Amino acid sequence: MSALIAERLTLSRMHPPTLHAIPSAVAANVARIRKETDARIMAVVKADGYGHGAVTVAQAAVAAGATWLGITDAADAAPLRAAGIDVPILAWLNPAGVDAAQAAALRVDIAVGSVEELCQLIADADAPVRVHLHMDTGMSRGGCPLEDWAELLRVARAGRGRIEVVGVMGHLPRADEGSPRANAPAVLRMRQARDAVLRAGFGPLAVHLAATSGALNDPSTHFDMVRVGAGLVGIDPSESTVLMGASRLTASVVHSRLVPAGTPIGYDGTHVTTGETYLCVVGVGYADGIPRELAQGAAVEIGGARHPVVGRVSMDQIIVDTGDTAYPRGTTVTVFGPDGGAVPTVQDWARWAGSIPHTIVTHIGPRVRRSVA
Ligand SMILES: *Cc1c(COP(=O)(O)O)cnc(C)c1O
Repeated sequence: MSALIAERLTLSRMHPPTLHAIPSAVAANVARIRKETDARIMAVVKADGYGHGAVTVAQAAVAAGATWLGITDAADAAPLRAAGIDVPILAWLNPAGVDAAQAAALRVDIAVGSVEELCQLIADADAPVRVHLHMDTGMSRGGCPLEDWAELLRVARAGRGRIEVVGVMGHLPRADEGSPRANAPAVLRMRQARDAVLRAGFGPLAVHLAATSGALNDPSTHFDMVRVGAGLVGIDPSESTVLMGASRLTASVVHSRLVPAGTPIGYDGTHVTTGETYLCVVGVGYADGIPRELAQGAAVEIGGARHPVVGRVSMDQIIVDTGDTAYPRGTTVTVFGPDGGAVPTVQDWARWAGSIPHTIVTHIGPRVRRSVA
């Protein structure tokens, strides 16, 4: 090889854009939540564990003391069971309907929030399916309205043998306010729901209402179990408790160059340099989950310093202004992580995008590699 080429090969080893899940952070977050409650903890791993890998998050949470898992679609229990996870699993949305045989085979409990759904499940069940009756506690989303609750219980009694009622569920519409007053109507409705189910002769029951914010802020919402999803991966929707981010998104500098003052950057030239500066290109864009609608201030960490993202986010790449510093091709870029200091958090990205941290972690695209730290 010629010396000309050899001397230009320094430091150019690249690593692909990678989302590193951090199980020890999930464990720390479960431990933090357990300080706030004696209730059982259901680890909610919907949307592939909030983008962190459902099996990874579930295993870490169960090892740290969670005793249930929560998902939206019963079919999502298959990889969890295949990984050898044995705790009870509840599925509460089932967007394609419930396959009763599959639910029984995977040992998935089904949350039922309407009379039609319950009738269908009873009709389809060969082996008994475990059911949680879902009361609408104020969201008008999933859940049975109070007016239909008595009818739901009549149907449940008639279906005994094909279904087994083992739980009562609600969901808090205003827990993120962190105020017991905001939760009081839902707590009252939950008690009414539970008492009616007990009076109808069912029991013992697992009664559960709270998600992360309720678990962290309001013991009156805890009942027998809390369903914690965001909190597992370091997100407290009420922003009252500092939890630990459970992932780090890294990429490499693809190339770097010096540009003069007055240089337009990216599509439409929405940013123009004010002085001579180094730019570097990083190979992640909106197809990888970098929000396109970024406010001023969005930044990444390179070489221990925070450097601004400039110009529009492209589909596959962003441009970063690194000022006086030229970073060689292959230098690691941290988009977000739990590290602190120059490394932005998922919460920072949510603020820059005008969104919530949940959307940042669940939008990481499929071509970003996954690894477990
Ligand atoms: C997503 C979800 C949860 C978990 O909520 P977090 O705020 O992420 O902890 C709990 N219950 C239901 C019904 C959900 O849809």
